[in-house]
Amino acid sequence: MDALIVLVIGLSLYLFGHLYWLHKLNKWLNKPMLNHIPNGSGVWEDVFASLYQEHRRHSRNQTQLSSALGRFRHAASALPDGVVVLNAANEIEWCNPPAEKKLGLNLKQDENQPINYLVRHGDFVTYLNEQDYSEPIKLKSWRNSDVTLEIQLIPFGTKQKLLICRDVSQLEKIEAMRRDFIANVSHELRTPLTVVGGFVETLLDMDGAVPESTRSYFNMMQDQTSRMGRLIEDLLTLSHIESNAQPPEDTEINMVALTNMLLNDANALSLSKHEITLDAEPNLDLIGALEELQSALGNLVSNAVRYTPTGGKIAIAWKMCADGHAIFSVKDNGIGIEQQHIDRLTERFYRVDRSRSRETGGTGLGLSIVKHILTRHQAKLQITSVPQDGILAEHGSTFSVIFPKTRIVHKAAV
Ligand code: ADP
Repeated sequence: MDALIVLVIGLSLYLFGHLYWLHKLNKWLNKPMLNHIPNGSGVWEDVFASLYQEHRRHSRNQTQLSSALGRFRHAASALPDGVVVLNAANEIEWCNPPAEKKLGLNLKQDENQPINYLVRHGDFVTYLNEQDYSEPIKLKSWRNSDVTLEIQLIPFGTKQKLLICRDVSQLEKIEAMRRDFIANVSHELRTPLTVVGGFVETLLDMDGAVPESTRSYFNMMQDQTSRMGRLIEDLLTLSHIESNAQPPEDTEINMVALTNMLLNDANALSLSKHEITLDAEPNLDLIGALEELQSALGNLVSNAVRYTPTGGKIAIAWKMCADGHAIFSVKDNGIGIEQQHIDRLTERFYRVDRSRSRETGGTGLGLSIVKHILTRHQAKLQITSVPQDGILAEHGSTFSVIFPKTRIVHKAAV
């Protein structure tokens, strides 16, 4: 009996000991200060020692992290560009002083505020919501109309975003000067060229005015003046599109009518040397600037005719895609283009083969105009091509224009 009492008392003391350290642990966990961690005894000594080590490592990591964050913020503050860190809900987590200045923010007041409440520019809000951040956007500053800002969003981490903004006013001014210069020179060249071209044509038409021995020179002069005329017209079109950021007013374009017109133009240009077909989905219209799209799509069709040898096939199509976009495509089995040229075709004056382009009356500006027009319509140009050895094969080039869902109109079938 005595032994039982001693056992009970022993067990109670043992249990009390554990409860005591458990209580100490709980108390410490409520306010876990590294210097106040209990020492413990027995098995608790090991527990508290491990806890101490773990807590020390954690604090060291935290100190390192906050010093790294401090260094990052220090470095980001020294950047000339504005930097804003946004969380998943597009609220401001942090920004540097240049961002405060450029975007009119105040970190102390605006921390945790949604960025679209503070940067209320319509284009910025659309950019933020569209979630396609592959390209930056340019905005006129709402604080100073002389300033143009370039804003780029970069997603990182778990749905966070980095907003980078820079002042590109100076670059814009140089760009505008370049555009104006090209537009003015082209405009000034137009009249003298028309006069020279007109006289050459009149002389060629006048009986006996041009001796047979020099007629070939006059023909060359006529070819070159009309080539220069085309160049000037293309340069003027390009600078007109570039200097007007907004396209002319959108209308609903009847695509059956437009594609039929393109087919007729292609046949007229081809002079029955090609087999040209059209497959256009009825009741599928497009919202856009008619004249611009007519010129862009027409350019793709005329290129197909110009770069496909006699006897070749050209297929024009206008179709709906499964994902809701619509595609206008021109497929030819012409000379094709080598892979390394494809990405550069829309650069001004880029031609795969200069002499070939000149032969076909090209200026090297066509696809550059096409690209500008399509960008203004949020459409994308896709080019696939297989180069050929002058022999008509199954494949040549396919130029496809992918229009976004927002520009497509489904008409009720009649
Ligand atoms: P160009 O006035 O010289 O035709 P573009 O800008 O319209 O200029 O086209 C650029 C270049 O792309 C052309 O010089 C040509 O080399 C190539 N190209 C365009 N369309 C085709 C096509 N359908 N087939 C083969 N090459 C093409």
